Amino acid sequence: MNIPFGKPIITEEEESRVLKVLKSGKLVHGPESEEFEKQFKDFTNSPYSVSVASCTAGMHLAYFNLGLSHEDEVIVPAQTHTATAHAVELTGARPVFVDSDPDTGNIDVNQIESSITNKTKAICVVHYLGIPVDMDAINKIAKKHKLFVVEDCALAIGSTINKKHVGLMGDIGSFSFYPVKHLTTGEGGMIITKNEKIANKIKIQRAFGVDRHHGARKQPGVYDVIELGFNYRMSEIEAAIGVAQLKKITGFLSQRRENYENLRELLQNCEEIKLIEHPSGKRQSSYYCAQIILRKKILKAKFDIIEHLSKNGIGTSIYYPKPVPHLKYYQEKYNFSESSFPVAAKFSYNSISLPIGPHLQPQHMNYIADKLKEKIKTIK
Ligand SMILES: *Cc1c(COP(=O)(O)O)cnc(C)c1O
Repeated sequence: MNIPFGKPIITEEEESRVLKVLKSGKLVHGPESEEFEKQFKDFTNSPYSVSVASCTAGMHLAYFNLGLSHEDEVIVPAQTHTATAHAVELTGARPVFVDSDPDTGNIDVNQIESSITNKTKAICVVHYLGIPVDMDAINKIAKKHKLFVVEDCALAIGSTINKKHVGLMGDIGSFSFYPVKHLTTGEGGMIITKNEKIANKIKIQRAFGVDRHHGARKQPGVYDVIELGFNYRMSEIEAAIGVAQLKKITGFLSQRRENYENLRELLQNCEEIKLIEHPSGKRQSSYYCAQIILRKKILKAKFDIIEHLSKNGIGTSIYYPKPVPHLKYYQEKYNFSESSFPVAAKFSYNSISLPIGPHLQPQHMNYIADKLKEKIKTIK
């Protein structure tokens, strides 16, 4: 069997839509990015959506729009992709890391307030593996301290709280369409917000700060620049892939959920591991992967297990390989000790992420569980 950790499902629909764009000659500023934004808005039920070059670009724009500088701080979870912290760091502001909740891997809400100073301007939360963060608790803290809330939704398309899509409970939500995520455009991202002013300003800042985009110019070539900005646009080719992908999202999500539930059942009696629980219902996860935490007695065999799975054609990953403050760049810059952020460290150093993407079916889950248990049995 060949079971990659992630594999985008690209069909004739994506191919023909991309070909149409290529033949049209309109490769940016066209109808596909508008259509993708509209479809994404409908799916998440958000008032505004702006397509961007990546989730990182979306978060950078959020902080840039907020006007962060080197005198500011942003609360960021220690357990996340480096992009979450980089987006803050790029503005010159300082990411202030907070350890994880041991059950969900999300930011530990109880440790946020003690990290807030008079320099804190924002809180960023990550819906870890698609498990929704308790946004009521976050918003309560944010309101009390007058802080802006950014939701890193890179793994959370389809995650909801009381049917409300994540990304809409804070001030801005940023999504990723990197190939192994729930939905892909090659590279790409989307931000959603309830705030019209933020949406309009980010639309300008993502495209050099130009006052009117190409299609909106009365006289060709005539425009002005009213803001400082980036080139963080999504191309028409990427957007065309996104439109085709988004049509399949409901099926993708239910397949992920089914795969997870199957694997959960199959691993139920395996005492050597703990499977991270994804909630379903009032708090709904997007089921990014099945994350297992190895118990102490088999911990030393972590890389043997990964190798055994790999030899048998099963791709795995680690979300994420180190807590961000343990990554060389951050460790050296801010001088974090190896023993800092112990809970986030446990998620990194003791876990393996197993695939449950929509490219997989029940027989694959059986196979993964068999191969995993077979190896665990041999560990003394
Ligand atoms: C993948 C990921 C990102 C980066 O997304 P890009 O679209 O590649 O910029 C950011 N945050 C989290 C939590 C991620 O998993």
